[in-house]
Amino acid sequence: MPENGTFDELGLPPALEAAIADLGFTTPSAIQAQAVPALLSGRDIVGVAQTGTGKTAAFGLPLLASIDMDVHAVQAIVLTPTRELAMQVADAIQSFATHLPGLNVLAVYGGSPFLPQQRALARGAQVVVGTPGRVLDHLDRHTLKMADVRFLVLDEADEMLRMGFAEDVDRVLSAAPRERQVALFSATMPPPIRRVAEQHLTRPVEITVSRQASTVTSVRQTYAVVPHRHKTGALARVLAVSEADAAIVFVRTRGAAEEVGSALIERGISAAYISGDVAQTEREKIVDRLRTGALDVLVATDVAARGLDVDRIGLVVNFDVPREPETYVHRIGRTGRAGREGEALSFVTPAEQSRLRQIERTTRQSLIQVEIPTPVEVSAHKVTGLLARTAERKEIGRLDLYREAIAVHLAQNPDVDPVDLLAVLTALAVGDEGPQAASGDDLDDALSRAHLSGGNGRDRDGEHASGRSYDRPERGERRNNSTHIAGGSPRWRVAVGHRDGLQPGALVGALTGEGGLTGKDVGKIDIFGSFALVDIPSGLTPEVIDRLARTRVAGRPLRIRQDTGPRPGQGASRPSHGPARGRS
Ligand code: ADP
Ligand code: MG
Repeated sequence: MPENGTFDELGLPPALEAAIADLGFTTPSAIQAQAVPALLSGRDIVGVAQTGTGKTAAFGLPLLASIDMDVHAVQAIVLTPTRELAMQVADAIQSFATHLPGLNVLAVYGGSPFLPQQRALARGAQVVVGTPGRVLDHLDRHTLKMADVRFLVLDEADEMLRMGFAEDVDRVLSAAPRERQVALFSATMPPPIRRVAEQHLTRPVEITVSRQASTVTSVRQTYAVVPHRHKTGALARVLAVSEADAAIVFVRTRGAAEEVGSALIERGISAAYISGDVAQTEREKIVDRLRTGALDVLVATDVAARGLDVDRIGLVVNFDVPREPETYVHRIGRTGRAGREGEALSFVTPAEQSRLRQIERTTRQSLIQVEIPTPVEVSAHKVTGLLARTAERKEIGRLDLYREAIAVHLAQNPDVDPVDLLAVLTALAVGDEGPQAASGDDLDDALSRAHLSGGNGRDRDGEHASGRSYDRPERGERRNNSTHIAGGSPRWRVAVGHRDGLQPGALVGALTGEGGLTGKDVGKIDIFGSFALVDIPSGLTPEVIDRLARTRVAGRPLRIRQDTGPRPGQGASRPSHGPARGRS
């Protein structure tokens, strides 16, 4: 936002300007442009701003500017509503302090052991970020001394009051020296917050930034309902059709990062995983690969991905819904960066849907429900990508080998339709193994997208056309004619289908006309995209086959032959009665 000027106009010390440059911040956000000069000049401020507006730097930078590096005592306290937020804010402030050697930031919060925090305080941490309850505990135990505190921040004040911290906040502020600065930030300004401001702040500068300044508005927020055990399969499909250059997948635990990351790698996706225990150098290497495009998908825990800033990330997937809405906001902030568009997709299990409402309340934006892509959509996407590359590949040459192989194959198999062959080759090229290849993956059933209905099915050749079935009563008594090909399947296959506008009546007409059969000889007919199957229980003589092979229906030769059923290695099976949107 050019109207916010540049960071060097804000009057920050060079060490902080250098840290901002390291972080890749180029222009200040609206709240930063207004809050930083006011705080540097010594004023108190009240900032009304939503999440994602850059509040942490707005108070964190002036806070650090106020620290006397020679004094090894607590000089600044930031109160946050949650433990998660305390850790995040402490990390952010530490990241602003990379050029301030010797500056110590400490996060204190309930539920973690007291002693390490006490030791860190004794060693001279200058900045404390914590939840009001735990900060008060340290005050009461005299492990935290207020004498040198000159800077106090109430981050997300409305949340703190909502969580019942009003009294604790009040006590911390009352215990601070009179000579101090206070910055109060809140998304809303209800009367109780006004009262806190009136009681503890001195003629504060009021800064209000509108929603538009938010860094998350360029992110399209979506969710999909996915049962837990299908999340990995759903993720692979989402990634397969995504237009994003790179994606980050958030998981809750280290174990999940490894599991999901490995599963993606196994599926041939350019992915890696990191968790909080990965060494800093290793983490930097991975992030670098993500930045340069050597890596497309990063599976990470919240801790591992904190502060990660890669422009290529066009998609954030919340594999697990975060417990804290605040974490959600931080996660989706990994995309839509540098003015780009981004999408955030959250997987929620059917039982977790209430969490969405919580997130929507916090972000004040609604999430749009989307469907997980079907195998058909995934294949279609891959085909588009594959075909887009054909012209370029053709230019490169060395295709004679393939031309010859195809010519030989067609010569040896005169029944093979070249277009069918192309379809098969394309299916193989995109890794589509046919309707029942990945059996056991009942993702689509789980997603309620598969509609089982008799006769609906997919082309055995991997073409995802829906077939229609026409049951014909089998009234005809079997003719006992030894010249008829007997045994095997009563099903016959013709090389004409929906694609050619084939109607069952036309097929029956050809069989009874040219083929010399009677209507009673013709049983059930299933029509698919590029072919049809027809039951002829009495069989056909070689002469009839020959005649029918050349008979044209709907403009194409019938090429009738006995249906041999699934062939080994083809992975295909009888197309009838399969789900309309089959498994893959
Ligand atoms: P808030 O506390 O208002 O919710 P944060 O301070 O957590 O917002 O900032 C949200 C995200 O925006 C963070 O990822 C942060 O690194 C990034 N950010 C903050 N200020 C800038 C800036 N000036 N330029 C680019 N990114 C920024
Ligand atoms: Mg914040």
